Amino acid sequence: MSPAVLLPGAGGAHSELTLGVMGGGQLGRMFVHAAQRMGYFTAVLDPDPLSPAGRVSHHHIQTAYTDPAGLQALAERCVAITTEFENVPAPALAQLAQTVRVAPGADAVAIAQDRAEEKAHFAGCGVPVAPYAVIETSAQLAAVADDLLPGILKTARMGYDGKGQVRVADRAALAAAWADLKGVPCVLEKLLPLQLECSVIVARGADGSCVNLPVQRNLHRAGILAVTEVYEGNLPPALVERAVSAAKSIADNLRYVGVLCVEFFVLDPASPAAQALGGLVVNEMAPRPHNSGHYSLDACDVSQFELQVRTLAGLPLTQPRQHSPAIMLNLLGDLWPGVRQGGTATGVPPWDQVLALPGTFLHLYGKAQASKGRKMGHLTITGASVAQVRATALQAAALLGIEAF
Ligand code: ATP
Ligand code: MG
Repeated sequence: MSPAVLLPGAGGAHSELTLGVMGGGQLGRMFVHAAQRMGYFTAVLDPDPLSPAGRVSHHHIQTAYTDPAGLQALAERCVAITTEFENVPAPALAQLAQTVRVAPGADAVAIAQDRAEEKAHFAGCGVPVAPYAVIETSAQLAAVADDLLPGILKTARMGYDGKGQVRVADRAALAAAWADLKGVPCVLEKLLPLQLECSVIVARGADGSCVNLPVQRNLHRAGILAVTEVYEGNLPPALVERAVSAAKSIADNLRYVGVLCVEFFVLDPASPAAQALGGLVVNEMAPRPHNSGHYSLDACDVSQFELQVRTLAGLPLTQPRQHSPAIMLNLLGDLWPGVRQGGTATGVPPWDQVLALPGTFLHLYGKAQASKGRKMGHLTITGASVAQVRATALQAAALLGIEAF
């Protein structure tokens, strides 16, 4: 990768300086917003004509992610290209990288795409993972240690939002679940007693400089992120320090360039697993901005999307400063009237009542159709104090029909 800095506006009057993104979902949309605010032009590659990012970008190339002509058009248009979801085929990134700056690199993305490779990388960084076994053959299935059950069987590739995951209580359930998943390569993880979950978002530049957002405390419901809370006291300081240094070493060892999110489990301190594993276990990483970092748009001086732009353009990274305690509520399609009753959306949630609460920021991703489990947007709540932000967030949750937390 060329270390040249791509200064905003440097393209001059007749040549646009364009940053590209593979994938047109909400993460791409927020990247596009950040890039455009700083004066860059943007290009999105996504086959969907109505993709959230494609609709707000200067350019939208509507081809499959592996289409050589589409990739070539993107490479010709852009001075640098990033990705917004980890399932972009790594060979597509490698093709782009032949002619244009790409960050993160195909190698790092390829590791994050495969749970087995990812876990091996974590272990190599000296960061504990949940006990697990790779299951690619019937022999490996038969050889699974009893100690891994009950567990969670996860497809090695293409999982997200809890999809491609089955909880299994015993060997019979494990065999049935693997058959249901059509025998694709999987990882069986021991089911751990979680006290809580947290994530760390780091941004690392090509020069090796690395900054991090404050550590997020995350609540998942049904395998999907529901609530993120970020403020002083959300987590014990010693834990925060360990999680940040683990995330930075994971990024350093990949020689990563871009924004990386690392998700952690904090184990119930009374459990034998906590004694054995040391209390903090890495779950997985995402080679891109992450849902748990959305609060940074409204509560930090530098958002995760601006960090993505800066790492891509070779601009300086400054340690983000959070200026307000924040809580983020995910807005799933389930909240839309009609969808909740099992049908199609017949209206929208009461945004006017929610926005009457002080310190609330509504983000909708421009998706036409609400459906169960679909991420339609998020709401950030900021306040002057932790007590205030929690009280307001609970009021917003009640208005929206989100269970209290
Ligand atoms: P996403 O990409 O949306 O983060 P995912 O589909 O990749 O999700 P995971 O992060 O692996 O899924 O798991 C989703 C959630 O399931 C976790 O956040 C956690 O709440 C629970 N979970 C996963 N693995 C374990 C485990 N080994 N023990 C206990 N709980 C687990
Ligand atoms: Mg996860």
